[in-house]
Parts: sequence; structure tokens; C-alpha cells
Amino acid sequence: MATIPWLVDVLRGAGVQVVVEGDWLNRMRPGSFDPIGVLWHHTASTSSASNPHPALGICINGRSDLAGPLCQALVDYNGVFHVISAGRCNHAGVSGGSGPIPAGDGNTLMIGWEIDYNGVDQEMTAAQYSASIAATAAVLTRLGRDSSYARGHRETSTTGKIDPSFIDLNVMRADVAAKMAGGTAWSSTVDNTTSGRFTASANWGVSTFSSQRYGADYRYADPVAASDPAWYRFNVPATGTYRVEAWWPTNSGYNSATPYIVATTTGNRTVYVDQRATGGQWRVLGTFTLPAGDANRVAVSRWSNATGLVIADAVRLTRV
Ligand SMILES: [Zn+2]
Repeated sequence: MATIPWLVDVLRGAGVQVVVEGDWLNRMRPGSFDPIGVLWHHTASTSSASNPHPALGICINGRSDLAGPLCQALVDYNGVFHVISAGRCNHAGVSGGSGPIPAGDGNTLMIGWEIDYNGVDQEMTAAQYSASIAATAAVLTRLGRDSSYARGHRETSTTGKIDPSFIDLNVMRADVAAKMAGGTAWSSTVDNTTSGRFTASANWGVSTFSSQRYGADYRYADPVAASDPAWYRFNVPATGTYRVEAWWPTNSGYNSATPYIVATTTGNRTVYVDQRATGGQWRVLGTFTLPAGDANRVAVSRWSNATGLVIADAVRLTRV
């Protein structure tokens, strides 16, 4: 049986924060271990700043129905990797085959990250995501495999697993590929306070009401059947494919169908989001082809049929 005693060094070399959990070099399940890929999971536990790794004990010690260790590393709320095992773990079960990962014993074939979030009404934190991308890129480089060997449990599971929730796994692989290529993908954030890059009429009020805001404050307006959008201007470096994300604070009084308009090479596209939920984090609106040049690219429109305030806070573009 092989082990991966290099794991801690490879993670630290990639700039990932690591906590070594006890005798990780000798804590493992009996049986074969010859990993060719990395598998992402969520723990289904609710983590927070004050309780960053609620599932750590279970991942080390296992449960009554499944012996530990349950993953090679747990990724806590702050993106810290808690390294648990250098060997085989009970995380993957049977693989049904996904991408280049064949059908077979998933615990032999893959190294598992248990990312500690509940996956129902809690998404992966930005810190968890970026650390998991960096760790996955570094481990696949060490294994001599490309980004297609990064999978999600819901892709390989034969028993209907849903984890990791709220993650587009093709975007994840694109981000791993960009990391492995050594380049940091071009990315730009425009907040409602970014000088010269945000435009809204005086009908849009300024608020600091929600602590989920991005930056100092955000803008709000009543929905109205008229064109009065708040625009975000970006200097797009080249015509290409970009991921468009938005950040808004959540409140029950906000709009359930806020229109975001994205100005693409083939015209405006509209994406509706529910601003009563999932605030205080980056949410993917989609991936679009954008033209090169410095211009208004994304807008929040007031033209919603739903009730509640429409919110304009921050928008981020990332080349993919
Ligand atoms: Zn899983």
C-alpha cells in the first residue's frame, strides 16, 4: 500500500495553510491506495468563524457506521487544511467512473478533501474555495495529472451523493487548470464605491444597513417598470470567456427576482437572482463571452416584476 507522505510539504509549497492533525503518517484504513485524482466533498456540518471545523473529529475518528479516517484533509471555514491521513481513507466509496477516473474503488483512486460547510443553506466560503483550488492544483501536479482528474463526489458516486453543493465543477476544473498553468486568471472587482466605474441615478439610495455588504456601503432602489440601471464598468483585456459574479447583502425585504444585465459580444443577457437569500458572498451569474475594451459591462436593473428593493453592491469578472 502506497502513502503520500509528501502531502503536507506540497500543500505548504503551494501557499496553503496547514495544520497537521496528530499521527497523520500512520492514520489510515487498511487496503490499497494508489491515487490518481482528487475528490471534493462537503461535510454537511455548519461551520462558522467561531466554529471553523465542526466535522474535524468525525473525519479523524469516523462514525458508528463508517470507520475513520474519512478524508486525507478537512478544509475549515478559513481555508486551513487540517491534514489527517497520508493513506487510504473512507471518503469516496465505489466510483462509478467520471472523466478520466475509472469505475472501481474510489478510496484507492482518489485523495479526498472534506470541505466543512453544510451544503444546504451554507455555501463553501471564498477562503475554502481558493485554498482547495491551490491544494488540488499542487497535488495533481505532484501526481503528474491534469485538471480533469479533479472531481466532485456527486460525479463519481454510485449512491446519489450531492456534494460538493453550490460548486460548478467545470468552473472548478478551469480554475485548477489556470492555477496549474502558473498564471493567475485576470480578475477585476467593481464595487458601488469604485471610482469612475459605477454609475447610478440619484434614485438609487445609499445604505450601510446590512453587515453582509461588500465594502463600505451599497445602493438600493424600488423596482419600477422603467430603465434606470446601475452600471459597472470594466476594462476587459481581451475578447474572451469570463465568469461574472455578483455580491449582494441579503434581507427578507429585498427583491426575489433582481435582473442583472450582462453586455456580451452577442447582445445583452439577463440573469435573475433572489436577493432575499445567499447574500454576503460571491454568486456566479454565469460564464459569458465579453468584448475587449473599457465599457459598461454589467448592470443591475430596477425592471423587476417582483416586490422588494433591488440591490447593487459589487460585481467581479474573472477570465476562464
Ligand atoms: Zn462526499
